[in-house]
Amino acid sequence: MTKKIKKLGIIGAGQMGTGIAHLCAHAGYNVVLTDISAENLKNAQKKIEQEMSAQIKAKQITEEEQERTLEQLTFSMHDGVIFERDIIIETASENEQVKKKIFSNLKGKISSHTLLASNTSSLSITKLASFTDRPEQFIGIHFMNPATRMKLIELIPGFLTNEETLQTTRNIAETLGKTVVLSKDFPAFILNRILLPMINEAIFTLYEGVGSVEAIDTSMKLGANHPMGPLQLADFIGLDTCLSIIQVLQKEFSDPKYRPCPLLIKYVEAGWWGRKTKRGFYDYQ
Ligand code: NAD
Repeated sequence: MTKKIKKLGIIGAGQMGTGIAHLCAHAGYNVVLTDISAENLKNAQKKIEQEMSAQIKAKQITEEEQERTLEQLTFSMHDGVIFERDIIIETASENEQVKKKIFSNLKGKISSHTLLASNTSSLSITKLASFTDRPEQFIGIHFMNPATRMKLIELIPGFLTNEETLQTTRNIAETLGKTVVLSKDFPAFILNRILLPMINEAIFTLYEGVGSVEAIDTSMKLGANHPMGPLQLADFIGLDTCLSIIQVLQKEFSDPKYRPCPLLIKYVEAGWWGRKTKRGFYDYQ
């Protein structure tokens, strides 16, 4: 059994929310994207429009496709616009308190048929579900960055997630042309459990002066055949998000091997969060 999904709500118009909104609208879903920041919403709309214009130039999509996609998209700062959606995907900052506030705020307001999902990179799905009035209709749906291009979606059922919610989100992922992997609800799931310790180690390698930023990234690109070096990838993910994920691993496993590199902490404190703030291991000014 699966639910019919036509209307999506996305909460958080950062890098991920913007990409997921673009992807879903292009696939024909009606999408409402919300955020507490008017500026981020404006940037989201601009980014989607710019990307589509570039795709038209490159003959990857037609003008009709662009028009159809933009017609399916609404940007709003009012939460009320998402109460009647078939599914709401939360893509706000990687911070448990932020997500708790968002889900608690939806309690008693959203329609009984609405499914809830989080795009969290690391937090417990079972715990996030406990902040809602429907843990059976709650699931982790972890898109990759950029959501429009990366082929993978991790689905993470929580302890109480029902089969219908899992199958419905699996259907959504497949209509978006993605390959699904199922992960148990363990800290950082599959991909980030493996990826983040590697990124953290790359930062330690820099911190200890073993190699320069360029030497580290070149080593992993040419020596391990990674399309992007780990420091470039960290900038791309967002250093604030990387630190949150590694801290979740450290806290939840109580294992010192997940100790975040002090240099990562300093960069985040300094506001060097990677591409989104135009400065991280590289300068994007
Ligand atoms: P981001 O910092 O680019 O965007 C976060 C957005 O959330 C911002 O626009 C912010 O204004 C908004 N926000 C904060 N509090 C809010 C609230 N109460 N209500 C509505 N919006 C709110 O972050 P991102 O990289 O897009 O990551 C978002 C989520 O996706 C995180 O959980 C992250 O772990 C996950 N994720 C990130 C990546 C990645 O590579 N960056 C990949 C997969 C999953």
